[in-house]
Amino acid sequence: MSTKQIKDQNELKESTTIIGCGIAGLTTAFYLAKKGHQITVIDPTINNDIDPQIPSNATEASLGVLMGYVSRKSSGRGWKMKMKSMKIWEEWTEELSNNGKEIKIKKPLIKIPKNDKENEFMMHIAKERKDLGIKYEKIYNTKNLISMKNSYGVLISNKDGRIDPILLIEKLKNALKSWKIAMIQQSVIQLKRNLNSKEKRWIIIMANGTYIAQDNIVICGALGSINLVKPLGHTISLEPILGQAVEIAIKSEDVIINNWPGILSINGLNIIHKYKNTFLIGATIEPGVKASIQEKISMLNSLKKDSTIFKDYVIKKEWHYLRARPINEPAPLLKNLEKGLIINSGHYRNGILLAPACAEWTWKELCKQSIH
Ligand SMILES: Cc1cc2nc3c(=O)[nH]c(=O)nc-3n(C[C@H](O)[C@H](O)[C@H](O)COP(=O)(O)OP(=O)(O)OC[C@H]3O[C@@H](n4cnc5c(N)ncnc54)[C@H](O)[C@@H]3O)c2cc1C
Repeated sequence: MSTKQIKDQNELKESTTIIGCGIAGLTTAFYLAKKGHQITVIDPTINNDIDPQIPSNATEASLGVLMGYVSRKSSGRGWKMKMKSMKIWEEWTEELSNNGKEIKIKKPLIKIPKNDKENEFMMHIAKERKDLGIKYEKIYNTKNLISMKNSYGVLISNKDGRIDPILLIEKLKNALKSWKIAMIQQSVIQLKRNLNSKEKRWIIIMANGTYIAQDNIVICGALGSINLVKPLGHTISLEPILGQAVEIAIKSEDVIINNWPGILSINGLNIIHKYKNTFLIGATIEPGVKASIQEKISMLNSLKKDSTIFKDYVIKKEWHYLRARPINEPAPLLKNLEKGLIINSGHYRNGILLAPACAEWTWKELCKQSIH
């Protein structure tokens, strides 16, 4: 979409700043820009080179698994958001591919049950969600994949898959840049209302002492969101949940990698084929801020447990990052705190997956406000 096309749309006069440029902030910016909003994005890492081994945020650390259709529940807010997001991701990947390198969701997702209960559940959802591209195959030769002894069948979800998060970040940032969206590389240190002005606009103060005045603020700052709203009298409770991932190179030569699915999920681990004999494995879910060696070892042991191809490997890279989990509230945290102050944060497990639905929610909230 060109800048002109954006302006041709029903452009809102109000200005909106998005604080934080992980997937929550980037997708919100993308959504709002497409709807013709006048936006600015601020993040101290916005122009950093991306190195997944030294991530600047959780989004850069993520594996990009989009596991929507096989979710446990098939009703409620979470389910609706997953369905909405999967639909939007299909549209956006097509749109983002129009400009340069193609970005796609590599499909399918194959899940291998680990016990009778999980196996029963998989058979159940395969029946219930046939229309959503899910099937259960009783006789599936997992030997081709991981040479494991599998006494069960497998669940195949043809619409779930994996998106390359680094390419996605680049594509979204490039789209914003091409639309001349203001992108400020700064940390926001304080938010204030200008009570002297008629509109009572927000003043956003940055670490270098500069500030901008805006009508609306959307906070997508993960754990950094807490201290931004606290002085305004809003309490949001988020706790750090660390996630570790590794890149390994297997030594086995008898594995047929050509037919590797977008994701192979086993024992709660996602196994992604990167190239040649290299795989990405993750992620751990560890409350706290310190990466536990024990957690990493048990992740890798569970990988070895049933398969022969992962018995012999070398770790090529490893990394971790913190995610923000809401305390006593479901993730993500979507709240309209007061006029012109929205929070779209607390994305911890499925942040990439759910980002488009959260961006849409934010847009709807801003529209509601501007009507009143
Ligand atoms: C190892 C690992 C694997 C994962 N795999 C998956 C997966 O396969 N699929 C999936 O859906 N999810 C996955 N996740 C989770 C997912 O990465 C997160 O849920 C998601 O990236 C969170 O996005 P976010 O935008 O909320 O936060 P972040 O990506 O952390 O971004 C927050 C941004 O806010 C900025 N910020 C903070 N404070 C301020 C401030 N004061 N001023 C300006 N900017 C500020 C920060 O600089 C940062 O860039 C994984 C996470 C990890 C760690």
